[in-house]
Amino acid sequence: MTTSVGFIGLGGMGQPMARNLLKAGFALRVFNRSVEKARGLADAGAQVAANAGDTVRSGGVVFTMLANDAAVEEVVLGQNGVAESLGQGGIHVSMSTIAPETSQRLAKAHAQHGSAYVAAPVFGRPEAAAAQKLWICTSGPEAAKQLVRPMLEALGQGIFDFGDDPGSANVVKLCGNFLIAAAIEAIAEATTLGEKNHIDRAALINFFAQTILACPIYQNYGRIIANEAYEPAGFRLALGLKDINLVRDVGESSRTPMPLADLLHERLLSAMAKGREDMDWTAIGLGVSENAGLRRKA
Ligand code: NAP
Repeated sequence: MTTSVGFIGLGGMGQPMARNLLKAGFALRVFNRSVEKARGLADAGAQVAANAGDTVRSGGVVFTMLANDAAVEEVVLGQNGVAESLGQGGIHVSMSTIAPETSQRLAKAHAQHGSAYVAAPVFGRPEAAAAQKLWICTSGPEAAKQLVRPMLEALGQGIFDFGDDPGSANVVKLCGNFLIAAAIEAIAEATTLGEKNHIDRAALINFFAQTILACPIYQNYGRIIANEAYEPAGFRLALGLKDINLVRDVGESSRTPMPLADLLHERLLSAMAKGREDMDWTAIGLGVSENAGLRRKA
């Protein structure tokens, strides 16, 4: 297979995803703002582009896996951006967690150049990305989704489609991250309650993760919170705050009160104020424990 694919954003998620595209036989042109992160991929056979626009030729396919809305807009619409180079028949597959409105705006911008936009946000942390175990949600024009399907299949274990509106998949992703954050808060409160009443945190989580809450979110996040293993981050707390802000924005614009999202916002903001932005987002559990007078074990 020789299809050439561009990939922009080689952070915790982008790095293993780009590797899997290479492994699947796609010829890759990669770009990352901090160039040193492209080195490993170059050794694995990727070509390193000079800038974002240089990752793709007219009519090609380009993936973005960048931190936030501003970063995606910058690499698409900024100087030497993707919008100019993608051209007639090109496809932008946008996999970051961003606002539905940003996807809608980008889809319009691409349409002016004859290109299509597919939103394809993912569930799964860097380990899942490396193991090709991501769950991928898509939305956008049908023909473009069909064309990129073999590439998405190289990245994940399942693809679920949510229709034509480019922002729909982003709404689903935000609903999912809200559910995960709510589970993190619940696990943190329960383990703290257990600990204050002389129940071992790990024993508590082991029990629930094998019985009434036997699902990946409670199992994996439960283990991290029980062990207080908040570093290194799989998903940085600063990005978690970004996502809860996006959830609240969509709630605001669609008149959906979300009191639990408000609480999560406060937890994440408080953790940021304590310098925890580069810890895993489960580190909101530290604040929960501190409020109960507990200290983190060494
Ligand atoms: P990350 O490790 O922090 O990487 C962020 C990437 O964005 C880096 O390549 C970074 O470049 C780039 N970037 C940031 N600002 C930029 C800008 N202004 N211009 C150009 N590039 C910029 O984040 P990640 O964990 O890979 O997450 C990437 C996306 O996936 C986020 O939207 C996140 O919410 C989502 N996501 C993450 C997870 C997870 O578990 N980590 C799971 C699902 C979805 P530099 O290297 O130069 O900083």
